[in-house]
Amino acid sequence: MDIIHLLPDSVANQIAAGEVIQRPASCMKELVENSLDAGASRIQVIVYDAGRTMLQVIDDGSGMSETDARMAFERHATSKIQSAQDLFSLRTMGFRGEALASICAVAQVEVQTRRKEDEIGTFLEIAGSDVIRQEACQCPVGTNFKVKNLFFNVPVRRKFLKTDQTELRNLLTEFYHIVLVYPHVQFTFVSNDEVLMELPAGTEKQRIEAVFGKGNKAYTGNLVDIKSDTELVSIRGFVGKPEAASKNAQQYFFVNGRYMRHAYFHKAVMTAYSGMVPGDYNPSYFIYFDINPQWIDVNIHPTKTEIKFQDEQTIFQIVLATVREALGKFNIAPSLDFDRAGEIEMPTSTKQVADIPKVVFDPNYNPFHPTNTRARDNYKGWETLYPSGSNIPTKPTYEQQKEDLFETSLSEVQPYTYRGKYIFVPYRAGLFIVNHHRAHIRVLYEQYQHQIRDQKGVSQQLLFPELLELNTEDMKLVDTLLSDLRYVGFELEQFSKNSYNIVGIPALLSVDHAVATLNKIIHCVRETGISAQQQWEEQIALSLAEDTAIPYGKKLTDEEAHDLIERLFALSNYRVLPDGKVIVCEWKVEELDSRF
Ligand code: ADP
Ligand code: MG
Repeated sequence: MDIIHLLPDSVANQIAAGEVIQRPASCMKELVENSLDAGASRIQVIVYDAGRTMLQVIDDGSGMSETDARMAFERHATSKIQSAQDLFSLRTMGFRGEALASICAVAQVEVQTRRKEDEIGTFLEIAGSDVIRQEACQCPVGTNFKVKNLFFNVPVRRKFLKTDQTELRNLLTEFYHIVLVYPHVQFTFVSNDEVLMELPAGTEKQRIEAVFGKGNKAYTGNLVDIKSDTELVSIRGFVGKPEAASKNAQQYFFVNGRYMRHAYFHKAVMTAYSGMVPGDYNPSYFIYFDINPQWIDVNIHPTKTEIKFQDEQTIFQIVLATVREALGKFNIAPSLDFDRAGEIEMPTSTKQVADIPKVVFDPNYNPFHPTNTRARDNYKGWETLYPSGSNIPTKPTYEQQKEDLFETSLSEVQPYTYRGKYIFVPYRAGLFIVNHHRAHIRVLYEQYQHQIRDQKGVSQQLLFPELLELNTEDMKLVDTLLSDLRYVGFELEQFSKNSYNIVGIPALLSVDHAVATLNKIIHCVRETGISAQQQWEEQIALSLAEDTAIPYGKKLTDEEAHDLIERLFALSNYRVLPDGKVIVCEWKVEELDSRF
């Protein structure tokens, strides 16, 4: 007997729906995007119970003919592309022709639609992919989609939905992503009969003000315009003044009218602000990219918001320069970026792009550096400048430490790397021998703890998520650790009852190790117990530091070695690891002398 057969459409659609429609928010997104593609100028979203029982999207767009209304629910039915070739010049939001088929596979759907040229509209009722009713009806021009009892036939999915509060937040997040790029379209959002958002048509700035400023002009008053046109990309939008930075900043990137996440470009923006906003504060930004669709790949996954650009390094540079210039224009950026420049991973691309404002800075310049004689002179005399007892800026302790330790400044010390394992560092009273792997663990351990404390960190997005499979107990454990993991760069999305999708990982971690590292973290945290948050945070930081530190056998360049020891000796405890392993041993001059 042959055993292969084709799945009935209803089953195939349900499977596809699992990918496209994960929650009410994704359902709303698909419907609203269809309305936008249909040229609507007014769109209403109405939900009950966070879209669980009812989610309605009403538009005044083109509407559909009787046949099209019926066709629209077939899988791969689309009016937006004809051939695979069209995929490369996409400008509409939808194109896969999957959304409606998916939605009606997992919900009870009613649609009313009418085109301008038709006198009479079409009404359709579908449940679990079966057409239950189709008849002519009286209705306004446009389309009215009602999705009832989402996942009525997929109990597992229904169980996955979070509380109404969380799902409503998801709906609004998705709603923001859309309304911020269609300011000329009027939007309304109604939840359980309460109007939560009423957004008139207007400019981008007015839209931002309406959404986040609650109509308050002060909100957009704190935004500075940015703009730059290059052959590669056009960038425009708004960035917040540093003094308006806050703990819950709004940070948005859009490309060709679509929301996107982009950790690397985010870093470019943050770099432009470095030294201007206090540690746990963040600037807001709303940045719109326009780029030839051929140079980006949006087709990674229908629900994913990561977008791959060609030549990301050059765009990094453009973003950095554009934001810097905007901040500088308003006289709010220091003209020199001395503090962080050394740490910044500058793009290595040498490609020149016309018209990019060039910001010249010297990464080695440090006005507080002891070798900068002018600064040193000022520095030396500071005791006499301020009467004692006044608010005297204290000398950074690590500077002091370094000066005590090293005859001149650490930056003039010549480290010597040895056997892919050690770094010899001569100092005032002798010689340090540094284990480079352990030194890096120490430095990263500190850095990851900072990220957790400051609640921020960047991650590299994975094009293809890795699957982390866990038992029920560890699923619960990970749920507790989720935000701390995010701060060190892990982005996890629950995929099933027993698994997470790893969609982002710490910048220094290699993809191949992601699953192993997470398992190790889980193991270590389980061992130490999760009663004390500080303990598990230290555990996360340490495990990750161990797995991302420079390995033994890697030959460091002089610069890398130098950078590493500079960062190591800036720490108050540079001698041992938390588990007691020795990082540094030293040979005092006396000891040396005694040998001869
Ligand atoms: P896609 O948007 O990828 O083409 P969908 O399944 O979302 O696929 O929609 C299928 C088709 O149904 C669309 O191509 C469009 O022709 C039609 N359609 C869907 N929603 C609307 C709407 N609100 N107004 C007019 N036409 C619509
Ligand atoms: Mg669509």
